[in-house]
Amino acid sequence: MSDEKKPTIKKIQAAGHMRKIMADYFYEMDHAMKKGSPKIAWCTSVGPAELLLSLGFLVYYPENHGAMLGATRQASNYIPVANAIGYSPDICSYLTSDVGAFIKKETPLTRAYEGIEGIPLPDVMVYNTNQCRDVQDWFSWYSKELNVPALGISTYRNIGGITEDHLASIAKQIMDLIPRLEEVGGNKFDMDKFRHVLGLSYDCTQLWKKVLETNKTKPAPISFFDETIHMAPAVVLRGTETALEYYRVLLQELEERVAQNEGAVQDEDFRLYWEGMPIWGKLRDLAEFFISLNTAVIASTYCNSWIFDSFDPADPFMSMAKAYTEIFIVRDESFKESYIEKMVDMYDINGILFHDSKTCPNNSNNRYGMPERLEKKLGIPALTINGDLNDLRCYSEEQAKTNIEAFIEQLASK
Ligand code: SF4
Repeated sequence: MSDEKKPTIKKIQAAGHMRKIMADYFYEMDHAMKKGSPKIAWCTSVGPAELLLSLGFLVYYPENHGAMLGATRQASNYIPVANAIGYSPDICSYLTSDVGAFIKKETPLTRAYEGIEGIPLPDVMVYNTNQCRDVQDWFSWYSKELNVPALGISTYRNIGGITEDHLASIAKQIMDLIPRLEEVGGNKFDMDKFRHVLGLSYDCTQLWKKVLETNKTKPAPISFFDETIHMAPAVVLRGTETALEYYRVLLQELEERVAQNEGAVQDEDFRLYWEGMPIWGKLRDLAEFFISLNTAVIASTYCNSWIFDSFDPADPFMSMAKAYTEIFIVRDESFKESYIEKMVDMYDINGILFHDSKTCPNNSNNRYGMPERLEKKLGIPALTINGDLNDLRCYSEEQAKTNIEAFIEQLASK
């Protein structure tokens, strides 16, 4: 089946705009680091970025750097370096590749952006354990190495219903960060600024959601693989006007595609849901492979994780606590199953791909029977692909592709 077509990934015109704003973002931080002002905060990808921005910090996300190491296929050079100082090959490969790259004093930023000699070093680091404990250990390593404070929010995990007690506790932890952040950053907390940034983040989230939801149409205008690239501004620039401008441009392009009946996979026979982390080093390869199978991977838990519907500038601390606690990764098995069920219905999905990402159990939901339960409940098949977000030694291309082809044949025979 795969030999019959020459797969071509349709170019998204907004990509040029994105490259420009990402370059500006990294140059601004590089400049600030060299000048010593504004101060730089490192933040986890679903950490309290809005608070940091409102206090005047520029915000850098080590997970974004981890994804770059994966996408540029450099991660495997660095993971053994972190292993050698005691960090297991079984823990988060964002962590191990990022720490290994730091030890080797290398980064893809130097190749991508002329004049940048290294990652932007932090004045403070702030994590939220809502996604996993690895982020805390990751920041703790840098804290000791660079003698910089690592502050954090500990979030309840495996939550079904979210209670007022959960939210009050998390909101208090966010508020408790303020005195230390004021001290490091040199700016006083300003409630109006905080509300403003939270409002911008909310608007970003809504535009990103609209981008993702263009895929309710058939054929779907953007693939999961492109979405993982185009979500970068929602991760690192949420809370800024720049992100809003970008998503207005991208949304317009996708709406034009919808109007012209133009799909990411033009002959879209099947629509799949991707559950789990991307395999960063194989995005292009997998995108082309699925096109050759007339199959569109069009919705995912991963890209939806940067939709924060609950942000409310009128009640900033509690709403922020809610937004960062109600995300999929924090929730219990039953919530997750209902969530995927809704997505399958919303996007008219024919099958579900679970990525069992070796070093991220937090985003590998296939391990306790969920695929089988969903198959039974939803009447659509599921397939598990073994791999990893960054460590390509855990991914067998041949095996994955054979299994995917067989899966599509199974769908075709239905
Ligand atoms: S959620 Fe997974 S990929 Fe993300 S930081 Fe944690 S262990 Fe790493």
